Amino acid sequence: MAIQKYFDQQTWQRIKAFADTKPTPFLVVDLATIERKYRELQENFPEARIFYAIKANPAVEVLQLLADLGSCFDVASIYELDRILSIGVTPDRLSFGNTIKKRSDIKYFYDKGVRMFATDSDADLANIAFNAPGSNVYIRILTEGDQTADWPLSRKFGCQTDMALDLVNMAKRLSLHPVGVSFHVGSQQRDIGAWDAAIAKVNQLFYRLLEEDNIRLKMINMGGGFPAQYLAKAHSLTTYAQEIHRFLREDFGDDIPELILEPGRSLVGDAGVLVTEVVLISRKSVNALNRWVYTDVGKFQGMIETLDEAIKYPLFTDRTLYLEDNAEMEEVIIAGPTCDSMDILYEDYKYPLPMNMAIGDRLYWCSTGAYTTSYASVEFNGFPPLKGYFI
Ligand SMILES: *Cc1c(COP(=O)(O)O)cnc(C)c1O
Repeated sequence: MAIQKYFDQQTWQRIKAFADTKPTPFLVVDLATIERKYRELQENFPEARIFYAIKANPAVEVLQLLADLGSCFDVASIYELDRILSIGVTPDRLSFGNTIKKRSDIKYFYDKGVRMFATDSDADLANIAFNAPGSNVYIRILTEGDQTADWPLSRKFGCQTDMALDLVNMAKRLSLHPVGVSFHVGSQQRDIGAWDAAIAKVNQLFYRLLEEDNIRLKMINMGGGFPAQYLAKAHSLTTYAQEIHRFLREDFGDDIPELILEPGRSLVGDAGVLVTEVVLISRKSVNALNRWVYTDVGKFQGMIETLDEAIKYPLFTDRTLYLEDNAEMEEVIIAGPTCDSMDILYEDYKYPLPMNMAIGDRLYWCSTGAYTTSYASVEFNGFPPLKGYFI
């Protein structure tokens, strides 16, 4: 495996040249890669509207780029709302996608002009009716993708089909506009079949609403779940798109509803390189099999998705960037710099790193553009939040 698998030579040289000028740790995000990913998604789903899930990487540079490309945005809090409005995105391009929200936050969104709300419970729906009267709502349903997603997102959100049916009817009674249904099959969902099951569920729900209540919904929000390139292999976006379109045709025939996608990880993940440095290399005993490599980032500086070793980022060093076949490698345990013993990144899975690696060597973690800077702690052990540069 060589760095060329993740970046073309020109892009990598640009990232590396920039990285060489900065002290570690930091994230570099290549904006051109995000633009490429956005266009690729558009080409694969030409009929869909894209609502970027801000939480994946909320940097103004990323939001501005996507706004200029015409993206809409999935917003989860009043803070994300303030930021996206501050760069001039109009509220008709926003949806409040969090099903867990305060009444005052609903009102805040409404007052700022947002008219699209997700919901999955009667209490929340009643709050929306009261604080955002006449708005469009869509019902989030539960899906069963959590076993095959590398970062589950389903169980906490969504409701069963029968409840969704009730909520649509309740929305009507409350003079809201129920426009559709949403689901999220789990982030980094590597089993495309998860969409099959979810789309079938939506189809059944649409059918029942029409038959039983004469209500016609017109939109499916298919959430995120598309992959970034990590160590565990995932299909190409084109394969996802072909399969998902096949599922839609099988269930809806020629009458496919409007589609919304809410990509986070798949748009920004591959654009990022987290540049870190080896702080210490040690063994726990003279005869210990594996060396420990401590780096200047850990779980609290942006690598929280290494919990349970869920996400395994591609890792390079200056010595292994271009893969010298004869480089002698050794499997190591990798841990962060803080005084918390859960701050171990990878222990079960042992990354091979060069035998001759030394303190001060740089490590390059690829595909770290999503869910790193936004998850970093504020000052655990005094370490500052992970810095991000956008080039
Ligand atoms: C986090 C989130 C997304 C983005 O998911 P990815 O798997 O990162 O693409 C989309 N929609 C909602 C509602 C989310 O909470």
